[in-house]
Amino acid sequence: MLVNIGQLLTLRSDRVKAGPRRAADLKELGIIKDGALLSQGGRIVSAGTTKDARRDPWLRKNRAKVMEIDCAGKVVIPGFVDSHTHPVFVGPRLVDFEKRTEGASYEEIAASGGGIRSSLEAVRKAPKSALAAKVLAALNEMAAHGTTTAEAKSGYGLTVDSELKSLEAIRDAASLWPGTVVPTLLGAHVIPAEFQGRSQKYVDAVCKEMIPQAARRKLAQFVDVFCDRGAFTPQETEQIFASAESHGLSVRAHMGQLSQTTLEPFLRFNPASFDHMDHVSDSDIAQLAQHDTIATLVPGANYFLGLEEYPDARHLIDAGVPVALATDYNPGTSPTVSMPMAMSLACTHMKMSPAEALAAATINGAHALRLAGRKGSVEPGKDADFAIFAVKDYREIPYFFGADHCSMTVLNGVIAGGE
Ligand SMILES: [Zn+2]
Repeated sequence: MLVNIGQLLTLRSDRVKAGPRRAADLKELGIIKDGALLSQGGRIVSAGTTKDARRDPWLRKNRAKVMEIDCAGKVVIPGFVDSHTHPVFVGPRLVDFEKRTEGASYEEIAASGGGIRSSLEAVRKAPKSALAAKVLAALNEMAAHGTTTAEAKSGYGLTVDSELKSLEAIRDAASLWPGTVVPTLLGAHVIPAEFQGRSQKYVDAVCKEMIPQAARRKLAQFVDVFCDRGAFTPQETEQIFASAESHGLSVRAHMGQLSQTTLEPFLRFNPASFDHMDHVSDSDIAQLAQHDTIATLVPGANYFLGLEEYPDARHLIDAGVPVALATDYNPGTSPTVSMPMAMSLACTHMKMSPAEALAAATINGAHALRLAGRKGSVEPGKDADFAIFAVKDYREIPYFFGADHCSMTVLNGVIAGGE
């Protein structure tokens, strides 16, 4: 039981509509002052005030059995749900990083052999155990920053064997981490060099080998496609989505990072999320406002690429599109595991309010992974996922950027990290 919580952000509110949070509902944090939170067996039992918890007859009787943590006025939030990460890689891309400081663009670096393709060789060669160790290290670092649920994509192998190996590494790391991991097959990240000019052959490998095997072996819950200039075309993306659907896997996609793609034709596949969304048309925004597909914004990528433009979060939110925030943790464009940093960028560069950023990083992230029944808010019956921040006011979380103020994270009832 946590007591003396300065602000307990439950994100629970009777005022909000069911489903992903849209428009004004994104600001509803359900804050309880001087809060208390009881969990048992990995589930939240109750959330209320410390005063009420002290009066509770069951708690009075069972005090000796309850482990009490005095939060001394700190802030408690639902654990972050980081719904977009690429943790299966071996090393950082320091040469690309340096080149970028000299003015090279994302596409210039990719054309000169850097970018996603430069991570392939190391992942193809690495033993599964080495990849799993990398993934686990990233998950632990995420937990230290308040994340309790993470989506994890493959996508740096791009052969049938190395993509399946990457998914196995995610599974093995997840089995050693107390939080929740959602695995995604991103075999369609880029066309690997050996398939240059024969992209249909590679799409066939994704559709006829990777997806069926990942589905049969239950190694992935989602199939993702990088649909953009220089990656996969809308037609190829539809083929891959159709294959995923026929094998019982849900879909999500990287969309609109470099160029605008018309989103409407994909909606029949009921994608969980479209991610990046730097370039999106007004008519697609109007469509998305009528659907539960989440627009997942990853401002860490814009920041790290040194871009001046960020996704137009204000337009999306005000139009009624449900927006989530994620880190896009990856070695090329967003090497951060910090959801507080993503929130800070959302506030400073996308004009989201701290409250909107917090809800986008928790409950709407849970919707983006189709886990909102269990994750993303502090409510009785949900999983005991929460993070304690050593601040007095939740707005300090995005305000003090670049610092980790998370002092304890509880993942499915298990304490990780700590001061
Ligand atoms: Zn990504």
